[in-house]
Amino acid sequence: MNLKKSLKPIKKKIQNKDKLYNTIRRVYTHLSELSNEEILDYYHVRSLKELEMHIEHIKEVLQKQIKNYEEELEQIATCFCLDSSENFKYLYSTKKEAEEQIKFTLKTKQIKLILYPCPFHCGWHLTKI
Ligand SMILES: [Zn+2]
Repeated sequence: MNLKKSLKPIKKKIQNKDKLYNTIRRVYTHLSELSNEEILDYYHVRSLKELEMHIEHIKEVLQKQIKNYEEELEQIATCFCLDSSENFKYLYSTKKEAEEQIKFTLKTKQIKLILYPCPFHCGWHLTKI
């Protein structure tokens, strides 16, 4: 029997165990001086397994918050205004951008556009006169 080989998984397990504690100590500086047992105490858990579950739960909550935040940002950056072909209208977030597009379209396509504020207060749209 190869003793070294059979010990490997155990060793790995111990390393993983310390890894979580060490990560916690590194990320949460106010816990950096605590022993493994004190960290368990701090989180009101009795075992490493419970601690892992607790951390997983925190991660999920954080990820969900980030996702919601990103969705909110997307909503702010778009509106539901449609053009005559039922396509979403291009939204200009600044008036200057819209004015520059007016100049550009007039110069390159000889089409005169005017700007108007998005009814959803998201920015500005352009329309033909
Ligand atoms: Zn709009």
